[in-house]
Amino acid sequence: MESTKTAPVKTVMFQKVLIANRGEIAVRIIRACKEMGIKTVAVFSEIDRKALHLRFADEAYLIGPAPSAQSYLDMKKIIEVAKKSGAEAIHPGYGFLAENAAFVKMVESEGLAFIGPPSSAVELLGDKVEARKTMKNAGVSIVPGTEVEIASEDQAISIAEKIGFPILIKAVGGGGGKGMRIVKEKSQMKEALRGAQSEAKSAFADPRIYIEKYLEKPRHVEIQILADKYGNVIHLGERECSIQRRHQKVVEESPSPIVDAKMRKAMGEQAVTAAKAAGYVSAGTMEFLVDQDRNFYFLESNTRLQVEHPVTEMVTGIDIAKEQIKIASGMKLECKQENIKWKGSAIECRIYAEDPDNNFFPSVGVVHSYLEPSGPGVRVDSGLSEGLEISLYYDPLIAKLLTWGNDRNEAIQRMKRALSEYRISGIATTIPFHIGVMNNKRFKEGRIHTHFIEEEMEKGQLIVGRDSDDILEAVAVFSALLDFQEKKRTKTPSSKTKSKESPWKIEGRRMGLRRFR
Ligand code: ADP
Repeated sequence: MESTKTAPVKTVMFQKVLIANRGEIAVRIIRACKEMGIKTVAVFSEIDRKALHLRFADEAYLIGPAPSAQSYLDMKKIIEVAKKSGAEAIHPGYGFLAENAAFVKMVESEGLAFIGPPSSAVELLGDKVEARKTMKNAGVSIVPGTEVEIASEDQAISIAEKIGFPILIKAVGGGGGKGMRIVKEKSQMKEALRGAQSEAKSAFADPRIYIEKYLEKPRHVEIQILADKYGNVIHLGERECSIQRRHQKVVEESPSPIVDAKMRKAMGEQAVTAAKAAGYVSAGTMEFLVDQDRNFYFLESNTRLQVEHPVTEMVTGIDIAKEQIKIASGMKLECKQENIKWKGSAIECRIYAEDPDNNFFPSVGVVHSYLEPSGPGVRVDSGLSEGLEISLYYDPLIAKLLTWGNDRNEAIQRMKRALSEYRISGIATTIPFHIGVMNNKRFKEGRIHTHFIEEEMEKGQLIVGRDSDDILEAVAVFSALLDFQEKKRTKTPSSKTKSKESPWKIEGRRMGLRRFR
């Protein structure tokens, strides 16, 4: 007979959590709480009255008008609502207040729990120069560059000459790719310093900048970690995030096509060392740049739940949002490093309210009709529903489409199928662009780096299309047509019956093809 003995039950779990966010991530966290039997409190701005996260939460409170400074960034108001509603903890999601050390301190001093790292770690890792110093001292290999802030043009030039051009000027308080400038030669330094400092000042109220070696065509590979309050730190492997536009991630996947078990172990160990050096607690990410020889260098930490966390969940089976809540409530990590197993391959496409036919211009309007893909291996994390208004007030990321496959090829095939099923009308989205990425030969072969999108667009190798099958079929028909015409031409060189219309146009019309690019 089997033993009926069970481990002692923990009784410290939160009863009620406030989610200080909106959109897909608020929905994601509410789902985790529900599965754990935790009551949820949503907050919303005036423009978000119809938002999905309000419908799923147990309680919802209006916190102000649409501009985020008066609603989702209003720290006092959010804490007031937490206290009024009886929430014991606040989950910040990502963006807004998630990496704001002052907010974390305020939450801590009000006797509430912050579902994220302690303010000391947020402060340390939010300062990129301090983070670099800490990592270097701990023996983590960092991107070559400075561990000091730049005070003058002369100093910048002498550092740049030492590490070698090209260099990258970056903001100490950086984020979102802001305050970055590439400098290829000495004469560009003055202008670049001025531009980076003023951008950093307006984006982060902090004009401080520093210098890193600019790595040519690196990959961005990051490691997910989990750290509890008792010094236990594990890693959940890597995410490949090299498909970027303007230094912002667009497609992510796990595993990375270039990471094998040996490299995963080495990167994972560095990430765990980095987390321990920073006194990190909670779910977090250590980002690395990988050069063409597969050398990897610590780039920065993200002290929050990442947008792309679901790809790791799909290959490890670990619910990172739930782990984060358990850790914040004081529970010990249950999973051990040796028990973490990776199965199959997962891809995420970030769906932005942007028009890929119009240089990714933000798209606003009301979602008229909405149909999500489903079927085997498909996950949609979205805050969308019919009648919802997409405005310019908030981040254009409106949904995340994920697929899982036994291998990378199956995950890509499923993604193509899921993208073709996804219907969002009323606004333009990046769905057609993702179809182009999934059909791209280089992407399929995993030969990618952070300049993949610009290079492939320049070469005309990213075909933006509504439906991948239509496009593939049209391409096949068109090449068959060219072949046929070529044969005809060589057989009857004096033919006078040549059509005036281009075969592109004829075939395009016949296939109902939107356009090629
Ligand atoms: P942010 O915090 O502003 O997002 P990151 O340091 O995370 O900035 O870098 C974002 C992206 O910018 C990276 O994924 C990479 O594409 C590019 N990048 C950053 N630093 C370097 C570097 N030293 N060399 C080459 N590319 C870089």
